[in-house]
Amino acid sequence: MRIKILGSAAGGGFPQWNCNCHNCHSLRAGTFQGKSRIQTQVAISNDDRTWFLLNASPDLRAQIEATPALHPRNAARDSPICGVLLTSADIDQIAGLLSLRELQPFRIYCTPSIRRILQEDNSVFAMLNRVPDQVLWTDIDCDSSLCLQALPERGAGINCSVFSLGNRFPAYVSRDRSLALRPEEALLGVIAVSSSGRRMAYMPAVPAVDDSLLQRLEEADLLLFDGTFWSDDELIRMQGSGSTAQAMGHIPVSGPEGSLRKLAGLRKPRKIFVHVNNTNPMLDESGPEYQEVRAAGWELAEDGWSLDV
Ligand SMILES: [Zn+2]
Repeated sequence: MRIKILGSAAGGGFPQWNCNCHNCHSLRAGTFQGKSRIQTQVAISNDDRTWFLLNASPDLRAQIEATPALHPRNAARDSPICGVLLTSADIDQIAGLLSLRELQPFRIYCTPSIRRILQEDNSVFAMLNRVPDQVLWTDIDCDSSLCLQALPERGAGINCSVFSLGNRFPAYVSRDRSLALRPEEALLGVIAVSSSGRRMAYMPAVPAVDDSLLQRLEEADLLLFDGTFWSDDELIRMQGSGSTAQAMGHIPVSGPEGSLRKLAGLRKPRKIFVHVNNTNPMLDESGPEYQEVRAAGWELAEDGWSLDV
């Protein structure tokens, strides 16, 4: 399976348009030792011809143009992008769907709760269904196996398993609507399986790590994991107010409850952080946080990486 990392930052990107934190300021000043990043987006393929997107970032149009494998090849209107698997209804993960509204048939796989938020509460997504053979919404159970398939079926599908990682819907979902939905359908983790049986785990938002998640990750060959925040109070220290990482649904990288320590026992997978927020000090490759991450055997995803499992 080929995995293309088209973007690796958290929502807002790096630098973020209204952010003057140490990282964003130094990057703009040309003194930062590290790389800019656009918002996290991953594409996967088992045959290099049919591609599936894991979520749809707000930067999706530019990400497709920057990736020749995702350009049209055959007819006047054509795309190797055959489907999108949504792991949540967060704006970072769904806004790019609006850049795919040009009457191209493809599938969207998501839980019924995520589908209802998009289809029933946000009429702008009706643009994906202006004609009968446009987008096919496919409901998936939040603890199930499925095969990502092109529409109509062609090329190699990709077997995946999905499982619930959290129970919080995005802030734009009303309280009444949240109460009518199944909380376990709010946030998914994904394990995609290559044609040779190797596994890639994708989870850009992880609220907590428990034993059952550890067990799943131990079976993975490649792990793309939530690297949003370094510390729990990162945003509060930077802005003087705001939410903790935990309150926003992200386990921090550092600290006794952080992912570096919680996942330190994983032996098998190659471990890569994605969805890194612009405030995260590990983006600074001259700093101690970056050194600590690398010394622990982790890598920081960079835009444009192509990986094979
Ligand atoms: Zn910033």
